[in-house]
Amino acid sequence: MTLALGCIADDYTGASDLANTLTRCGLRTVQTIGVPADQLTLPEVDAVVVSLKSRSIESSLAVARSRAADKWLRGHGADHVLFKICSTFDSTDAGNIGPVMDALRADCGETVVLVTPAFPETGRTVYQGNLFVGSVPLNESPLKDHPLNPMHDSNLVRVLARQSKTRIGLVDLAAIARGSPAVRARLAELSGKGFGAAIADAVFERDLETIGEVALDHRLSVGASGFGLGLARALVASGRVKPGGSNAVSGAPVGGPAACLAGSCSQATLQQIASAEQVMPVLHLDPDRVVSGSGEAQRALAWAKERLKEGPILIASSSTPDQVAALQARHGRDAAGHAIEQAMAETAEGLVQWGVRRLVVAGGETSGAVVDRLGIPGFLVGAEIAAGVPVLRAVGAKNGEMLLALKSGNFGGPEFFSDALKLMR
Ligand code: ADP
Repeated sequence: MTLALGCIADDYTGASDLANTLTRCGLRTVQTIGVPADQLTLPEVDAVVVSLKSRSIESSLAVARSRAADKWLRGHGADHVLFKICSTFDSTDAGNIGPVMDALRADCGETVVLVTPAFPETGRTVYQGNLFVGSVPLNESPLKDHPLNPMHDSNLVRVLARQSKTRIGLVDLAAIARGSPAVRARLAELSGKGFGAAIADAVFERDLETIGEVALDHRLSVGASGFGLGLARALVASGRVKPGGSNAVSGAPVGGPAACLAGSCSQATLQQIASAEQVMPVLHLDPDRVVSGSGEAQRALAWAKERLKEGPILIASSSTPDQVAALQARHGRDAAGHAIEQAMAETAEGLVQWGVRRLVVAGGETSGAVVDRLGIPGFLVGAEIAAGVPVLRAVGAKNGEMLLALKSGNFGGPEFFSDALKLMR
């Protein structure tokens, strides 16, 4: 396998977002959970996104894990690697964007790296090096109060300079608007003066396309899913990736019983559960019994066993905000959440043992617990069920072929569970 693009994402949901963006642009894409084991066999793909959890850990650990991911990606043919960061540039003066960029740049021998978190479709734009979140500068956005990475400076040239050992320049919108020759000339000028990286302005998608085209002359870039979009479009435009390949990845039907699990208590999910009650059997877990450890997952599995033969089922722990608050007051928020996530993971494991190969999960943390328990090393990204929620085909899973849909709380329309199952054959 020769990858056209390698990506290292500093958190899981950012990795999914990027993998989904690359797929929409026509790249056959696999998202792996952590650095793949040597024996993992991947299907023929254009891009691999390695998901790490390195955004807020100690910077030396983030560097070590990112370097291992980079080594794997380049070992599988990736000439260009995108280090995927948050579109709000979440980081502190200690890192981890600068230290990881410096290490990857040294490893691949790159002189100058283009950096931009811009993603206009989600309201992230960069002008004169300043990041805007919607209509306000980063330091006036809610990110100023982020619990882990409060962002008090919207000027990314300054922000990155505090984290990196190299000098940070700017490729401004005037250069970007003149097109790739002007950007190449500006980068050559910066590199000649000893700058090792440059923040690139981008306000429109066409700016990202220009940036993507120039970035492919280099071995490393740093950015959010918008940069992925620019790189993917440039790969397709240059003929390095054949368009349309990602439409074929859904592959052969998997068949067998199907099940849905809901651990999200969001408004959208509560409504989706109510709609599902019209079309499939639904079991509501007793959250108190889950937290007190009285075999609620086993009860759910016994309930599911007979019904699975008849068609899809849904098992939900979800409650209304008042009920959630009451449960948390009785048991503590973290203890309640953790116990319910583990019960959902146990239920998923039991369902898969009974032959379920099509599984829909609602809830970000809930999905993480389920995927970890099932030991799934990666996913091939398929068709979009709803904005930001693709069908996923497990890669290298010990239980064999399997389709999943993993939805964070507020995503999807009212019929999400049926919509998902229609695409998961
Ligand atoms: P979302 O994507 O909506 O944030 P998550 O799965 O990430 O959903 O988070 C929901 C959290 O709420 C999980 O930790 C889950 O275990 C917990 N939870 C689920 N059901 C209940 C409930 N009835 N009461 C309290 N907490 C719950």
